[in-house]
Amino acid sequence: MRKSAAASIGRVVWLLLLGICLIFVLLWTWRARNRLPDLSECTRLEAHCRYGAMHYFFTIKELESIFDANETAYIRSCDTWVVEDPNVIKTFAQQASQGVYEGRMWGRSVSPAPIKIVCYRAGTRVASLQVYDGKVITGSKITWSSMTLRYPDRLADRSILEPAGIQRLRLRWWCAFSIGGLHFDDSYPDPNHWCDAVAESLRQYRMSRGGEPMRRTYTDLQIAAMFRCPVARRLASADANESREEVAGSATRDQTVRSWVSDYAMNPDCGPNSPGDTVLLFETRAGWNQHGGPELFTFDNHDPKGGCVLLNDGTVKFIRTKEELAQLRWKP
Ligand SMILES: [Zn+2]
Repeated sequence: MRKSAAASIGRVVWLLLLGICLIFVLLWTWRARNRLPDLSECTRLEAHCRYGAMHYFFTIKELESIFDANETAYIRSCDTWVVEDPNVIKTFAQQASQGVYEGRMWGRSVSPAPIKIVCYRAGTRVASLQVYDGKVITGSKITWSSMTLRYPDRLADRSILEPAGIQRLRLRWWCAFSIGGLHFDDSYPDPNHWCDAVAESLRQYRMSRGGEPMRRTYTDLQIAAMFRCPVARRLASADANESREEVAGSATRDQTVRSWVSDYAMNPDCGPNSPGDTVLLFETRAGWNQHGGPELFTFDNHDPKGGCVLLNDGTVKFIRTKEELAQLRWKP
């Protein structure tokens, strides 16, 4: 009897130990399944733009005209691109590891991501990420078991992984976006004070979010950034020791603008009733309230060389040569 009781106790103990081990293994597996695998040892990342690189990197169709045929072909060749630089992959892996697990896709539906990044280690697929702004869903295709991860500062897929050729074109695109945003309403300002007048009118914009009290739509820092060509601004900040936060536009709301600078000049001969193809604003060297004709235009802000012009009908063009500059309508 004693022997049999001891054997029973032994069996219970063994079963208990087995149960504890099983729970431990299950917990470990569950935890591991809720994290991305370590991507830092990956040797190759493949990025696939679902709707094409033009749509992904240059979101405003009207601004596509700033690219010539060769540039357009290059952008299209980036619909899928490969990253093999170990430093870039490590940076991406470090950022990807910051994702906060949000659960599985059970019962949820979501539209496909604009970009998918497939990660390989020595030829073996390690992970496939559907990348949204601020969110990643795992899996080559989104299924009920795909994992969702949240990124408070968005996974920096574009800025870190994008091809160098695309980065240069994106700077030009941002310049075109800036100058396009300075288009006047019906009343055109005095050319001697046009920058002051545009800045003041942008200060009057008000908005309210989620029932909060009305507040200014743009801070002075944001308004100041609208007058800058991003390339010229980057070069100037390297010289003038401008703070990195200010350049990145991430400064706090109450920071003041150190100096008001415009990389754009106004054509004083262009009025509200001038033909639509008359030059209204154009790229120049840094100044404020500058106005004049093609003698003020600069090709030096960009690489490859050229500068943006804004026509009276709102069209933005990128001018590459003196011949192109001379062909523009400067007098109505
Ligand atoms: Zn520019």
